[in-house]
Amino acid sequence: MECPQCGKSHDRVIDSRLARDGITVRRRRQCLACSGRFTTYEATEEQLLPFLIGKNTGQGATTANLRAVLSFLSETVRILSKETERLIKRIEKTEKAQAAEQLQKKARQRKAARRRAQSLMMTDTVLRTINRHRRGIAISRLTDKTRFDAKRIHTIVFELRKQGKIKSLRRGFYVKA
Ligand SMILES: [Zn+2]
Repeated sequence: MECPQCGKSHDRVIDSRLARDGITVRRRRQCLACSGRFTTYEATEEQLLPFLIGKNTGQGATTANLRAVLSFLSETVRILSKETERLIKRIEKTEKAQAAEQLQKKARQRKAARRRAQSLMMTDTVLRTINRHRRGIAISRLTDKTRFDAKRIHTIVFELRKQGKIKSLRRGFYVKA
């Protein structure tokens, strides 16, 4: 709470009691900076709003009462706007992160699909090359003809043998099954 005399916000409560309205708690405070005393009223929003509107806008309402209601309402709107603004920013941040994640996921999927397609194409090339050599072909020749690296050729040959599409005539020498 800000001291009305010096503006500092360090104080101690010297007295606390239920106010006459039966809803707000009245607190006497003493400023720790200037020792000035002032009074605050505290209530929950749920209790205070209908109370303010009821008591201050009915019969016998003074302009001061109405100003108090207006000031309370605008303060509430200000606080709510701030909170809503914060909430919007947080949601925007989350949405941006999710969108970025989606993009990354799509990129990964495209990359994986490209790799699969490339792998199928290479396997097909190796199989066709082996099929063209009716008396079989050595691994080293396969590497020369396809220009794929040896490791890749070994993997493909292993897979093709497993699928029963080619067979080994002797070590490192393959023919159509
Ligand atoms: Zn003070």
